[in-house]
Amino acid sequence: MAVGGCVAEQLGEKLLDRFTHVDFVFGTHHLRRVPELLAAAQAGERSSEVGEDRSAARRFDLPMATRAEPGQGVRRKAFVTVMEGCDMFCSFCIVPLTRGREVSRAAAEVEAEVRALVERGIREVTLLGQTVNAYGRHDVRRGQAGEAGTMPFAELLGRLDAIPGLERIRYTSPHPLFFDDALIRAHGELEHLCPHVHLPLQSGSNRILEAMRRRYTRERYLEIAEALRRARPDLVLTTDLIVGFPGESDLDFEQTLSIVEAAGFVDSFSFKYSPRPGTAAVQLGDPVAPELAQARLLRLQALQSERTLAYHRSRVGQETRVLIEGESRHGAGQVSGRDPHQRVVNLDPRPGQALLPGDRVAVRIVEATPHSLRAVALPTETDGAIEARRSEAAGRVALALAGSPASPSPAG
Ligand code: SF4
Repeated sequence: MAVGGCVAEQLGEKLLDRFTHVDFVFGTHHLRRVPELLAAAQAGERSSEVGEDRSAARRFDLPMATRAEPGQGVRRKAFVTVMEGCDMFCSFCIVPLTRGREVSRAAAEVEAEVRALVERGIREVTLLGQTVNAYGRHDVRRGQAGEAGTMPFAELLGRLDAIPGLERIRYTSPHPLFFDDALIRAHGELEHLCPHVHLPLQSGSNRILEAMRRRYTRERYLEIAEALRRARPDLVLTTDLIVGFPGESDLDFEQTLSIVEAAGFVDSFSFKYSPRPGTAAVQLGDPVAPELAQARLLRLQALQSERTLAYHRSRVGQETRVLIEGESRHGAGQVSGRDPHQRVVNLDPRPGQALLPGDRVAVRIVEATPHSLRAVALPTETDGAIEARRSEAAGRVALALAGSPASPSPAG
């Protein structure tokens, strides 16, 4: 039994001392050492491998795992880490302490990995990083960006957009501070960049944003949202929100509610603040009572649900393309996938149509529900070609019949 991730990074050996059934512990920078640690554990050695490793080569050089599941269709989606770590130190967040400083991979390596994935059948990649759009910023600032190293994030997106066969590019999670004009323009210009951005906001109140050390204002966030929609009018914006941060007043909370409307969030993940040992916010006084935080969370989620449903309703009648992920939770032969806007679409296949994970299907949206869209599959190009051939053949048969001696003819 092994323990990995942020808690493992923080506690290390203490986990081995406390839980005698744990064989090994690996921190956030030591994923690639798991095979060695496993072999050692099988030889009876208990070990803990934690601590920051600043080597991009060691941290990012992981074996690729993209395989077709037998009988399950071909995997078409993959995650590609482009940077790791975080230098932002938001006052509520433990990530900078457990993931260490920002480290970006060389752009050429990222591109090579995406090309290799596309050759294996991947059609959608999601670029990953704690502050993914800060990709390469330290190199850019030092003037060391370039072919062998990194480049501004928008340029990296442009490079990937040109890879033949790659149909969808996403990224998560960006930070508003690094949302520059080039990245906004990219959303209007790059063919394969999906019309969805998940841009964590956390609070609609400038006072609370400052206490959270988020380094942007409500006004700046709204400016980005507006610019993104100018660049790509159908863009879907989703976010993360925290309620009950120390010192959050009714007025602060009302500002969070009002920005949900103003920014037009189609969806959000919302949480009650909970203190993380080792973070700056733990020192803040003026906690919000748990019942009040809970009431605020429920109000926020009710408002978001209304907005999500309103957006889903606005999509009814539209056509889109869905990348199938598997059976729908509703069963009854339905399959489920995501559209380019990252919405869940449950789909009724056409009679006789077998849809497998990895298939890409043109659909028409026929119903909106609070959490998803329902759609019907449209005739595919192949279906269309078959139907065209069928009607052409039927036409030939009709002509032949019309000209046959057994048929009545004007001459007969
Ligand atoms: S919330 Fe995000 S940006 Fe802030 S410290 Fe955590 S990982 Fe970094």
